Amino acid sequence: MAPFGELARIRVGVQSARREWWPVGALLARAIAEHHQALGQPLAVMAPYAAQLRLAEAAMLDAGLDERAETGLPSRFQGRRFPVAVLDLVEGGREPGWLAAARVDGTRHELRGLRLFNLGTSRAERTYLLADRAAVDGTEHGPLAEVGRLCRDGRIAVVGAGRFLSLRQLPAAEAVEPAPDLPSLLALEGTEFLARLEGELAAAEGEVWVWSPQLATRPSPVLGWLGAAAERGCRVTVFVKPPHEHRPNDERRLGALRAAGLTVVAIYGVAERMVVLDRRRAFIGNVSVLATPHERDEGMVLVDGERFARALLAVEQAEVFGAAPACARHPAARCYAQYYRRGRQKGWFWTCPWCGERRRLPLVPEAAPALG
Ligand SMILES: [Zn+2]
Repeated sequence: MAPFGELARIRVGVQSARREWWPVGALLARAIAEHHQALGQPLAVMAPYAAQLRLAEAAMLDAGLDERAETGLPSRFQGRRFPVAVLDLVEGGREPGWLAAARVDGTRHELRGLRLFNLGTSRAERTYLLADRAAVDGTEHGPLAEVGRLCRDGRIAVVGAGRFLSLRQLPAAEAVEPAPDLPSLLALEGTEFLARLEGELAAAEGEVWVWSPQLATRPSPVLGWLGAAAERGCRVTVFVKPPHEHRPNDERRLGALRAAGLTVVAIYGVAERMVVLDRRRAFIGNVSVLATPHERDEGMVLVDGERFARALLAVEQAEVFGAAPACARHPAARCYAQYYRRGRQKGWFWTCPWCGERRRLPLVPEAAPALG
């Protein structure tokens, strides 16, 4: 998964605060499903987390796959067999996830992880396991270590994600004009990305959602493009880090964003760097679009698809986080969102920057499938 960069970074679920989704898993599951549906083979796409399944299903619907391609937790397919299955392990190279830590003599949660792995790997004649190679190679115990042994023995074939997913790169001139037959994944770097973003923002008609943890010290051209979209009547929402997470004059920078007609919401610890346009197209990558551009190693991947874009917004609970309230006692103060890990009151809260008063964020409950 390494060449896929940010697409292969595992994200923390808003609801659970556990690492539970990655864009590349959904896109890869879709590509594998497309390949087998073209061969007329029914297929099950499984993952351990509802958020990952939601994204995979959305991507598959965008690709026009029919009901022969099913998605669900492994427990949903208990007692059934398929010619082909995909089990997205949602395991990246950085930290072990649920399945990497699964074990027979562990906690109930760890044991459930093992059961889920066993169910997921025994549903089909042929099962694709989606994981970062580093996660498989770096695990010493549990099911991933076993997968690693089978890979080294040649009993599991190892295939790079690029076999199914191609990241198309276009010359800058072509990238500016949206092509009619837009590829579903387009990798754009540095100035190419900015040129494409400018074109997309000029064409945006309804809504723009931006996750840009960092802000530039000087006015950025992107702010001008976002401001122009807002002026045309687009609803533009920007998620950034709260001022006290970076330098002191950031409060002034937030003011400049608000003056441009953007809704600005501070989220403590926000790490996502993404732009979602008109609920049909998303840029995902490592560019904080409102930060000062760093030319090297920065890029975004353009993912086309209405359902996928909507699923991203839903998984991030963009509407909930976009509705930051003012403090009851300080109407001029915008609350920021913060996740509290300790104490009786765990979860997301709106916090007033002046008096510290908290109120719980009304998250939309995930359609929680019963975990096996
Ligand atoms: Zn207050």
